[in-house]
Amino acid sequence: MRILLVEDERRVASFIARALREQAYAVDVADTGVRGLELAWDTSYDTILLDLRLPDVDGLAVCRELRRRGVNSPVLMLTARGMVEQRVEGLDAGADDYLTKPFAIAELLARVRALVRRGLQRSDATLRAGDLELDRHRRRAQRGGVNIPLTSKEFALLELLLLRAPEIVPRAEIVEHVWDVHFDSGTNLVEVYINRLRQKIDHHYSVKLIHTVRGAGYRLGREE
Ligand code: CA
Repeated sequence: MRILLVEDERRVASFIARALREQAYAVDVADTGVRGLELAWDTSYDTILLDLRLPDVDGLAVCRELRRRGVNSPVLMLTARGMVEQRVEGLDAGADDYLTKPFAIAELLARVRALVRRGLQRSDATLRAGDLELDRHRRRAQRGGVNIPLTSKEFALLELLLLRAPEIVPRAEIVEHVWDVHFDSGTNLVEVYINRLRQKIDHHYSVKLIHTVRGAGYRLGREE
């Protein structure tokens, strides 16, 4: 799951980003409305958190522009004041929900979970490859009808491979989507996680689904 946070106040942004990352979301932070629009245009986010007061374009204009460009990720507006007119304006601009600052982080996380679920309902909730099934809504993986327990990072990795299957997913893209943009790509964490997934998904099955494409990345599907 990938979240975009558009917030210019550094302290607030890093606090929210840290809380989301602890819940295993990958988080990109934009400190201007223009940067937020760029990122939202390039990447498909599961939810966008949008501060109303930004140094360049205000949050309402950003939200309108996102919708005009056909970006349909759920948007949660963060507003400094609880004024009714602003809430109405935000919803009119195409936001799905709003939260008034200051807010408890538990409240923010609950809203994000609800929006991510709503976003998934708009898209395919179940991803499949052969007898492998990933239920994004219940966050459950099965192969041949047998439940496979996954950690949140393993789940995120398998989800990405399934979303892109049968295409090759480059290692850099895995790092970016499953961890975050500032992750140190010098480590072999991707290989470690791929191996763990193989142990769970492929080890006991004759048909192997996860394939290494040397020098290119990984792909999921039947052997070619
Ligand atoms: Ca602000």
